[in-house]
Amino acid sequence: MRLGLFGGTFDPPHLGHLILAAECLHQSDLDGVLWILTPNPPHKQGQTISPLENRLAMLQAALGDDPGFSISRVEMDRPGPHYAVETVRLLAKHYPNTELIYLMGGDSLRDLPTWHEPQQFIAACDEIGVMHRPDVEINLSELEVTLPGLLKKVRFVETPLIEISAQDIRHRIRAGLPYRYYLPDSVYQWIRNHDIYR
Ligand code: ATP
Repeated sequence: MRLGLFGGTFDPPHLGHLILAAECLHQSDLDGVLWILTPNPPHKQGQTISPLENRLAMLQAALGDDPGFSISRVEMDRPGPHYAVETVRLLAKHYPNTELIYLMGGDSLRDLPTWHEPQQFIAACDEIGVMHRPDVEINLSELEVTLPGLLKKVRFVETPLIEISAQDIRHRIRAGLPYRYYLPDSVYQWIRNHDIYR
């Protein structure tokens, strides 16, 4: 078994997340992708984040009945802070004989040295699947000096560059700009029905 772990705030989940996860599922030969909704990301302290129940409802709407995708409660069901290293260790216990491939955008790879216990996080993952992100420069040799052994674990996934971010969608909604087609229709309808992000 090979399982992809896709952690995020998903505020809201958008088409970029879905396109990238589907590409990773296919290219990295995964049996499934676990979407790990983070209640309170350590690196987003001080930012306003939508209530967890809203983000969970939107993520359920986004994933629908796609058999390749499921939502993991591994972070939702434990008290914070929610460090990825702990998440991967817990999932390794829960899924024995399974390779765990942590999926992240290029911005997350670039910022990995600032994560909690990054070296232990790298050791806990069998592989790290990285998706390029527009306007993100990654200095791989510098990262390898800071975190020796990282490159052995990293595999870049050939994904299209997708210029969609949750932050931009929230901004568009606040500013009254068009945002509908950045999202699966189910998420668009949920946002409209609940009148959030205004
Ligand atoms: P925000 O804009 O609010 O910071 P985000 O979409 O960057 O949101 P998350 O929802 O936490 O943040 O993203 C989950 C993961 O998806 C992260 O690893 C992030 O790097 C990656 N990701 C999100 N959007 C893209 C994108 N357009 N291209 C590549 N990776 C992405």
